[in-house]
Amino acid sequence: MSIEDSGGTVTPGYGEPSRCDVAVIGGGPAGSTVSALLAEKGWHVEVLEKDHHPRFHIGESLLPHSMPMLERLGVLDAVEGIGIRKYGAVLLSPEDGRTRTVYFANAVGESRPYAYQVKRAEFDEILFRNAAAKGARVHEGVRVKRVDFRPGRPSLVHAEDRAGRASIREARFVIDATGRDTFLSTQLGGKKPNREHKSAAVFSHFACVARQAGLDEGNISVAWFEHGWFWMIPFKDGTMSVGAVCWPYYLQARKTGLDAFLWDTIRLCPPIAERMREARSLMPAQTAGNYSYRRMTMSGAGHLFVGDAFAFVDPVFSSGVHLALNSGTLGAEVVDAYLRDSPAYPALLRDFERTVRLGVKTFSWFIYRFTQPAFRDLFLIEGSRFGIEQAVLALLAGNAFGQAPGRVPVLIFKLCYYLTALFKIRGNWSAYRRRRHRSDWRAVGT
Ligand SMILES: Cc1cc2nc3c(=O)[nH]c(=O)nc-3n(C[C@H](O)[C@H](O)[C@H](O)COP(=O)(O)OP(=O)(O)OC[C@H]3O[C@@H](n4cnc5c(N)ncnc54)[C@H](O)[C@@H]3O)c2cc1C
Repeated sequence: MSIEDSGGTVTPGYGEPSRCDVAVIGGGPAGSTVSALLAEKGWHVEVLEKDHHPRFHIGESLLPHSMPMLERLGVLDAVEGIGIRKYGAVLLSPEDGRTRTVYFANAVGESRPYAYQVKRAEFDEILFRNAAAKGARVHEGVRVKRVDFRPGRPSLVHAEDRAGRASIREARFVIDATGRDTFLSTQLGGKKPNREHKSAAVFSHFACVARQAGLDEGNISVAWFEHGWFWMIPFKDGTMSVGAVCWPYYLQARKTGLDAFLWDTIRLCPPIAERMREARSLMPAQTAGNYSYRRMTMSGAGHLFVGDAFAFVDPVFSSGVHLALNSGTLGAEVVDAYLRDSPAYPALLRDFERTVRLGVKTFSWFIYRFTQPAFRDLFLIEGSRFGIEQAVLALLAGNAFGQAPGRVPVLIFKLCYYLTALFKIRGNWSAYRRRRHRSDWRAVGT
């Protein structure tokens, strides 16, 4: 069948399209996961990744509940090889000098007591090469430019490599795993900015940053400050990812270069500045902005969205890679059923959509409230009653898809939050208004 016969757009020099069962656009964690699992089931999978691995990516802190998925993919040992164990998180509130460390080992239910901090260049390459080892045909430096969806017929995926050579794949199913590029949403529409939450980040990697001692060395540190909050993510090689997530207005008001701006911001948060007294940056500072959004739909005829291509909220609880791995894992079952023409397909698709949406919703409740004084007060209290801390930690360790034990303690936590906010209504109401007002500022570009 020629391209003319198939009803696609003819472009001189394209030649015949190659055929496959599944075209996966994007070779990040979500794309590599779904590709590995589908290739393992024997499908002809083509992965098209615009960059070459290893490549820099932000998002370096993983969650304990991702570990079984990495094990299922057969990459857990390799991740242990590049990662440093993260047993918990240090929370710092410079405003009132309070500090607290929470440990995943205290989470209720079945969860590993640790996850990893990883350089994404290394982690993503492990997942991508694993997809290839499982039989997916992976292509790097190949950017997808357009997809022609043709009702009742395979789709045509138009791509171009770095030398400008065009190619077409005829695919029975197309998966958008393009992360925050949200490639298919740009083509098809359907992406909605998050009205509840807007923030932007500035970050870099550093050498010579002071670390925690002993087993706490790999813990993430999170510190609130006037314009948002900071993360410190230690790596195995002794270096550190440091970033500030700020209200967009703050980045918008920047008058200096990005590196100077990041250093100026660090100086606004004494506990971070103190640990970075000897620090030296290892790469130019970068920004990410305008990043909180969600798609209305998660699927359409012959296509599905996984990972950030569906939704992204905020880095604060390190949920992004976990949600990407989860939707890639569940998505593989859905696509397999579609390709087999299985009667289970509609039910699997419904379950996929319900589960992925629930994960995003579970994390969103905590993310939206993270900068509220009431939330900070509750989080920094030592000693837990009614199993509240254990239940909240289970959710934040990644058990966010409706099976977590301890629903009642989580409800009590939420109730306590609302009561605390009510009790200190003035401070919390003004923080809420500030957040909404500050969120209204024009979003910062990536
Ligand atoms: C500031 C910040 C900090 C974060 N911190 C954390 C954290 O600590 N922990 C955490 O879990 N998450 C974090 N995240 C979120 C995390 O980065 C993402 O959720 C995660 O990378 C999503 O994986 P993905 O596979 O969906 O997308 P990605 O990892 O973005 O992968 C998408 C891939 O698609 C490719 N692509 C895009 N367009 C095309 C195209 N047209 N053709 C071909 N290829 C294409 C890209 O090159 C990329 O490799 C953070 C995010 C931000 C913005």
